[in-house]
Amino acid sequence: EIRFENVKKSYGHTEVVKNLNFSIHEGERLILLGPSGCGKSTTLRMIAGLEDVSSGNLYMGGKLVNDVPSGKREVAMVFQNYALYPHMTVKQNIVYALRMKKVPKKEIAARLEDALAMLQLRGLEDRLPKDLSGGQRQRVALARAVVKQADFFLLDEPLSNLDAQLRVSARKELVKIHEKYKQTIVYVTHDQIEAMTVGDRIALLNEGVLQMLDTPENVYHRPANIFTAKFIGAPP
Ligand code: ATP
Ligand code: MG
Repeated sequence: EIRFENVKKSYGHTEVVKNLNFSIHEGERLILLGPSGCGKSTTLRMIAGLEDVSSGNLYMGGKLVNDVPSGKREVAMVFQNYALYPHMTVKQNIVYALRMKKVPKKEIAARLEDALAMLQLRGLEDRLPKDLSGGQRQRVALARAVVKQADFFLLDEPLSNLDAQLRVSARKELVKIHEKYKQTIVYVTHDQIEAMTVGDRIALLNEGVLQMLDTPENVYHRPANIFTAKFIGAPP
């Protein structure tokens, strides 16, 4: 479980996340949805420990984590731009964090094999990121996060650079990964179709304020306010 209690985030004098109060259930796929600049990435980065909360409390697995550094949180993150290490091969990118954590070699090899198979990356192990297509890079970023087997899987628009067809297959891969590992997934997108198909629940943000948190069905059919109705009703 991830719980926000009066969480605010400011940069200088600008409050970009305003008083968040909500919980993400253990094992669910929660979508953070909303227009550009509404605070989705900031919220995700606070969960990852890459941004401090300015005030309020953030709990993960029942523990207050405000002062827990990113490396000590059970998180794996896929960034908006993938952020692969350019000088490392596919294989090195995928296993780097495991080596740092001193996971036993056999275990690393087994997890790597699993991830390569699941994300159809076999044969690309020794390539550099620059020699991959956008879709392949995206799968490497997913593989790198999957092998960590973290309790919390954080994804920031991981499919935004893919064409429609790749997106559909990547969504299915994601759901398969989740069915296997049952992590708590927090998934940022501004793509409504993605939100509806991947999410158990959707948290809709606007200007740093939570507008509605409910199932895709309810967000779509029973919008809680005018913003939600307009945002969901708007053509993509
Ligand atoms: P997008 O869909 O475009 O990725 P987002 O919902 O992820 O948007 P955030 O990246 O969370 O939005 O940004 C929320 C607000 O905070 C924006 O107005 C942004 O300009 C501002 N912001 C983000 N990072 C910083 C920073 N380091 N310093 C100052 N302002 C920032
Ligand atoms: Mg963002």
